[in-house]
Amino acid sequence: VALLGIKETAPGERRVALTPETARKLGALGITVWYQPGAGQAAGFTDAAYDDAGARAFDAARWAEIDILLCVQAPAAEVLAQLKPGASVVGLLTPAADPALAALASDDRLHLFPLQQLPRTTRAQAMDVLSSQAGMAGYKAALIAAERAPRFFPMLTTAAGTVRPAKVLVIGAGVAGLQAIATSRRLGAQVEGFDVRPETREQIQSLGARFLDLGVSAVGEGGYARALTDEERAEQQRRLGDHLRSVDVVVCTAAVPGRRAPTIVTAAMVEGMAAGSVIVDLAAESGGNCELTQPGECIEHQGVTIDGPLGLASRGATQASEMYARNLMNFVALFVRDGQLGFDWEDELLAKTRWQA
Ligand code: NAD
Repeated sequence: VALLGIKETAPGERRVALTPETARKLGALGITVWYQPGAGQAAGFTDAAYDDAGARAFDAARWAEIDILLCVQAPAAEVLAQLKPGASVVGLLTPAADPALAALASDDRLHLFPLQQLPRTTRAQAMDVLSSQAGMAGYKAALIAAERAPRFFPMLTTAAGTVRPAKVLVIGAGVAGLQAIATSRRLGAQVEGFDVRPETREQIQSLGARFLDLGVSAVGEGGYARALTDEERAEQQRRLGDHLRSVDVVVCTAAVPGRRAPTIVTAAMVEGMAAGSVIVDLAAESGGNCELTQPGECIEHQGVTIDGPLGLASRGATQASEMYARNLMNFVALFVRDGQLGFDWEDELLAKTRWQA
């Protein structure tokens, strides 16, 4: 079995799907591991480190040998078309939005495994790229908020007077939100969080933050949040609007699987916030939780800074790659045993993750 860790080409993408560590471990599974020269450079992994791990430098003459291609974002369809029939592509693929990519999976020519589709069962945790990358994104979002805020996060007693701690509100307490709460707490802020899943109350409190009860509970399929009804949204917004007047920093992380991010902070709410407040909208990637968010930009609206950073996990490329690459290695181990390919389509982790048009 031959596996290739490809060099990413998407603008701003610094992560890599194969690290020297996973190259070594995949080699121990009897896999011949290839890396594309320069693949790990932006994440801090040199070609020499891959060589030391026993991986081989890939050249274009080898396309027809590759059985498994590992990537972060999908390479162009022309690139993947060079793979032999029956080869597998594993990564954050979006065939639903990319017809040329989806076409490569027709008649089972290639197996596409968009890891966003992995069922989030206990057994799948070690392969869960959404969780590993969301952790880094939540951490970075809190740091960006701290950097943008014209104030300290911690309480300080100084000769120039006492500084009160910043009040931080984290909207959405999934993997990213909980990490943003934990990071803001470590910086000394007074932190609150809320979510529509009731079990988050205890999770938020266990991080030393306060659960902000907006009186809305909305759990849908698989324990995930569902979209709110109009009445629920109105209730959430009424209570939140009042509350935001006394908050210095908002970190938005709310998402509903397969949908545009819910709009939670309206323009009118922003206009009610104090000048100098900061909103960092991690949900910008899927449209944003704040009505005024411009994905990829940082704007100011009536004295309030609204940042909608994209590609946050990529900003912590070294460790985001280490975690991501381990997730992929664990997924590959589902279908490579003793150096042989073997797809057990009865295994729901393989069957449900495989793209089928
Ligand atoms: P996500 O990125 O899809 O959503 C982020 C958060 O936004 C969620 O907590 C969601 O409840 C919340 N949200 C949605 N609409 C909202 C609204 N209108 N107002 C406030 N909050 C709103 O979620 P995620 O971080 O990928 O994961 C969420 C859930 O999946 C959690 O329960 C997590 O524990 C679970 N999970 C389970 C496993 C596992 O068991 N293997 C692995 C990962 C995640």
